[in-house]
Amino acid sequence: MKPAPFTWHGPRTVDEAVAVLAEVGHEGKVLAGGQSLIPVLAMRLAEPAHLVDINAVAGLDRIVVDATGVTIGALVRHASLERDDAAAAAQPLLRQALRLVAHPTIRNRGTTVGSLAHADPSGEMTSVLTLLGGTITARSARGERTIPATEFFVGPLESALAADELAVSAHFPAASAGTGSAFVEVARRHGDYALCGVGAVATVDPAGAVTGLRCGYLSVSETPLTVDLTDAWNSGDDAAAATAAAARAAVDPLPDIHATAEYRRQLAGVLTVRAAEQAVAQAVQRVGTMGRDNESGHNEEDRSA
Ligand SMILES: Cc1cc2nc3c(=O)[nH]c(=O)nc-3n(C[C@H](O)[C@H](O)[C@H](O)COP(=O)(O)OP(=O)(O)OC[C@H]3O[C@@H](n4cnc5c(N)ncnc54)[C@H](O)[C@@H]3O)c2cc1C
Repeated sequence: MKPAPFTWHGPRTVDEAVAVLAEVGHEGKVLAGGQSLIPVLAMRLAEPAHLVDINAVAGLDRIVVDATGVTIGALVRHASLERDDAAAAAQPLLRQALRLVAHPTIRNRGTTVGSLAHADPSGEMTSVLTLLGGTITARSARGERTIPATEFFVGPLESALAADELAVSAHFPAASAGTGSAFVEVARRHGDYALCGVGAVATVDPAGAVTGLRCGYLSVSETPLTVDLTDAWNSGDDAAAATAAAARAAVDPLPDIHATAEYRRQLAGVLTVRAAEQAVAQAVQRVGTMGRDNESGHNEEDRSA
């Protein structure tokens, strides 16, 4: 099938883009990488009368890394963010998750902000943004607002963006000292959407004790789910079993042609323990490295100088 006829708009600035969006309202759709939208149009699951193609909008392809974290513009492709060493150093979970998003050809074209705007609860980056407590900044002719991830994903494939709003950037907070992270998932074929995926962020104290463990889930709830599993992880001899049980109890998967709800629930438990173990190991390693640097008179700034 071919898309239904539409009018194409090619704004060159954010102001031009939001002016068109204000004019066309619910009749319009933003076109970024097209990796989700074009198939939807081709199958005529949506028939917008106007496409606002932002690919020529200046200034939206920047990755800014500072002490607060990583801010990416709406035209930063998954692959560019995945390859960015400064972004990976500031927030390792970005690269850990991005390598699991679809296939390299799709990551070359698809944008991370587009993936967030698409609000698919099976998308890795929706889960990462929520787990990290990130934000999305949106512009419209009415002004600019910053939306926390916890308020951005309102339902499956439904975000808090209004029809006249363009998501211009997303901010992922930096990893703090003493934290480690990991992202694991199971898909039927490499590059497919995962049957279940789990991101973990663990925090340890200088003695290596786990003081925080949060996990983010994909494909097991209608919106990205984040669960605090610190108490379960610290619950004694059967900590792994308790953590898996807490994860299974927290998720709310639906069955589909790929897997039953019970299978996804079971996966959530197994993958939670796997992700948590990796995140804790990384956190312990990072604390050890910092300790050695402090003893030898070095610090983080010295290393990056
Ligand atoms: C075969 C295949 C496998 C895939 N597997 C995965 C996977 O495993 N994990 C995963 O996360 N994704 C997967 N994807 C989707 C991929 O990550 C897309 O790139 C992404 O979901 C959308 O990004 P995009 O830039 O292509 O957006 P588009 O397709 O251009 O747009 C998607 C939607 O978001 C809206 N939108 C885009 N940008 C903006 C913006 N700046 N402001 C407002 N609205 C905007 C569009 O209007 C549209 O509704 C897969 C895609 C394919 C084709």
